[in-house]
Amino acid sequence: MQKTNNIDIDFDKEHVWHPYTSTVTPLPCYPVTSAQGVYLTLEDGTQLIDGMSSWWSTIHGYNHPVLTEAAKAQLDKMSHVMFGGITHQPAVDLCKKLIAITPDPLDKVFLADSGSVAVEVALKMALQYWHAQNESRAKFLTVSNGYHGDTFAAMSVTDPTNSMHSIYKGFLPEHIFAKSPECGFGDNWDETDIADFEEKMRLHHQDLAAVIIEPIVQGAGGMRFYHPTYLKRIRELCDKYNVLLIADEIAVGFGRTGKLFACEHAEISPDIMCLGKALTGGYMTLSATLTTKHVADTVCSGEAQCFMHGPTFMGNPLACAVANASLDLLAENKWQQQVKNIEQQLSLELPLIAELENVKSVRWLGAIGVVELHHPVEMKSIQEKFVQQGVWVRPFGKLVYIMPPFIISSSQLTLLTTAIKKVISSI
Ligand SMILES: *Cc1c(COP(=O)(O)O)cnc(C)c1O
Repeated sequence: MQKTNNIDIDFDKEHVWHPYTSTVTPLPCYPVTSAQGVYLTLEDGTQLIDGMSSWWSTIHGYNHPVLTEAAKAQLDKMSHVMFGGITHQPAVDLCKKLIAITPDPLDKVFLADSGSVAVEVALKMALQYWHAQNESRAKFLTVSNGYHGDTFAAMSVTDPTNSMHSIYKGFLPEHIFAKSPECGFGDNWDETDIADFEEKMRLHHQDLAAVIIEPIVQGAGGMRFYHPTYLKRIRELCDKYNVLLIADEIAVGFGRTGKLFACEHAEISPDIMCLGKALTGGYMTLSATLTTKHVADTVCSGEAQCFMHGPTFMGNPLACAVANASLDLLAENKWQQQVKNIEQQLSLELPLIAELENVKSVRWLGAIGVVELHHPVEMKSIQEKFVQQGVWVRPFGKLVYIMPPFIISSSQLTLLTTAIKKVISSI
């Protein structure tokens, strides 16, 4: 192989910032040159089964011919055009599809460029909604162990300990955190689980613009699966106290939990819904915030007479075209069966890992599997071990977790869980 073809790892280490990393003690990064199906190919030819779906996003696998073709076809027509005063087929098609598949009252779509921005947009919608009605409500209620993104407003409703709110004190708005749900997804519902949330709602509702929550699965804040009745109660409390409900479906939307949207487990619909991650099947960055006609029209009847947001790359045609192809694939692909099969297999294979001494517990829901350890892992060495086993798994803290592409085969999934067992038993 010619030297010029190699990825300059030393330059990367010296100059390139990766997510949540130190410039003082950078951890090694693995050079990936291509990806196909569930496989990532490293520069030296090593193939790794991707257990992460590149953070929840590549549900159909990498380099899917249909998605690649959709991107190429759109590229030949127009890769981008401003969205102010201009519209185009890919955006119109996408918004039609999103309105059709999301819970009924959601009727207006705001396209944005990343999950965090979709959350910012949702929070701004809620603030403008109350401002338009001459009510000053500037607080949000959420639960501990949540994750809603890395921009400031999104971070302000993310778990205060996990996201180090203390560093940004004085700048970060302070919102209200109820205790996170304790009742697991499959547990018997315990009505006391909602007590703290209910109390916070009762005390603060007059100041609350909205409740924001990840439906059913708390993702990056702890990989916790909670009881659908908790979410049902939140919807009831929001109705009772006249507070908007924002469902952040960015991680779980598009089938990951076994329902197309996790809200469906509780048979509720939010006033505002955030989508991202798997929206384009992991091809492009794109997100969407949906709301009802009532919320949208109220927002636009206020002082500003419009919704005050408009990113440069809003409604990017290339991203919308791939999202359309991804949603079509999802409709054709029998994802329900794929996710059910993954869940079934996890229910057989994860308990084998639970037997290990350093494992505290295992859990699974849809195409998500979690192994919780007694102690946090040492990232550098565990990452090396996973790569040696031919899998890409990226734990955080005490959590070793997977959410593979829906297209993963049964034997590939067994390789993944076997590798996890081997690596955990070796640390
Ligand atoms: C990933 C994530 C976000 C942030 O999305 P980005 O695209 O990383 O900005 C927000 N909310 C949830 C629930 C997420 O999982």
